[in-house]
Amino acid sequence: MIPYGKQQISEQDVAAVIEVLRSDWLTQGPKVPEFEHKIAEYCHAGYAVAVNSATSALHIACLALQVGPGDRVWTSPNSFVASANCALYCGAIVDFIDIDLQTGNLCVQALEQKLQQAKQDGTLPKVVIPVHFAGQSCPMEAIASLADRYGFAVIEDASHAVGASYQQRPVGDCRYSDICIFSFHPVKIITSAEGGMALTNSPQLARTMQQLRSHGITSIETEMTEPSHGPWYYQQIGLGFNYRMTDLQAALGLSQFTELTRFVESRNVLARRYNELCQHIPQLEPLKIQSDCLSSYHLYVVLLQQANRPVQRQLITKLRQLGIMAHLHYIPIHLQPYYQQLGFQAGQFPQAENYYQRAITLPLYPGLTAAEQDLIIESLQACLLAATEQAGQGL
Ligand SMILES: *Cc1c(COP(=O)(O)O)cnc(C)c1O
Repeated sequence: MIPYGKQQISEQDVAAVIEVLRSDWLTQGPKVPEFEHKIAEYCHAGYAVAVNSATSALHIACLALQVGPGDRVWTSPNSFVASANCALYCGAIVDFIDIDLQTGNLCVQALEQKLQQAKQDGTLPKVVIPVHFAGQSCPMEAIASLADRYGFAVIEDASHAVGASYQQRPVGDCRYSDICIFSFHPVKIITSAEGGMALTNSPQLARTMQQLRSHGITSIETEMTEPSHGPWYYQQIGLGFNYRMTDLQAALGLSQFTELTRFVESRNVLARRYNELCQHIPQLEPLKIQSDCLSSYHLYVVLLQQANRPVQRQLITKLRQLGIMAHLHYIPIHLQPYYQQLGFQAGQFPQAENYYQRAITLPLYPGLTAAEQDLIIESLQACLLAATEQAGQGL
């Protein structure tokens, strides 16, 4: 089976984790801050707070920005459910912004229209969470200028975009956002098994997130309500969680980080090759990459020229039968039963729904060979022909 994504673990990675196993610290040792410093430095961000997943990072980012009951948080429907769930964890009201079909990212015009309406209705969001779909940054400069105008905070969900850049600068520098989130799940660009990170240029937000990841506890005397009782003393000054990353995970992440540039380059080479192969298949269109973006290519997505669920379904099913793990990213979040129970309805975000009937994710990871890529494209072409004939219609 050719998977749709796959981690690449080297002997160096294995040795790095074993070294931690033999050390004094399995968690809360030196590796976590070392990993944080490396990522912050690479991204030109002031602070990085490592946690046990991007989901946790999104949660504490919302809390640090004081999202609470009654507040509104907007995100993209074309994402993993975690991008929206983080707001629900805080008791906030979630809403979505429809997407740009060319990129799969949220549409800035749709955002602006929705903001104008919300201003009239008194329902402006406290936080907007743009998701850098498939590894390509959203148009952050435009989003930041709307944030200034309408007074909301911005959390970038850059789970897909570790190693990507925007306007020649690394995603994660928080130039246009308050906080930026990375995921180190094995299917993402680099992995720490489970793991995530929240980057920010604000010392206050960083400190709040550090407290939230560890029970709301502090050992810093200036943060305490009374003088320290002694060297054992700590205080709980807020309600936090155990969202800590382990040193085992950080050591793996650090070791993987040394390959980040190579991984992103390799994904880009493979994506360019897919683009060239797809040029000969008029029924398929790859997603567009904007000229001011370098995508980290977490996913390689092609769109059918027209929405056609039966053909799409047959293609993905057939490819899987042939040992090619084609996939679909994403089921629009507002169509999930849980979100339907909250009152969302089909038809509310037509571009995301249209996209969901056209998108196909093809396998992409460093280590995918040219021969495998040829096989994938040939199989796709054959399946497309069969599906089109069976459907008895042109695509
Ligand atoms: C993977 C992913 C997450 C969650 O990441 P975890 O590290 O698994 O919690 C959040 N948002 C997006 C867009 C993702 O793809």
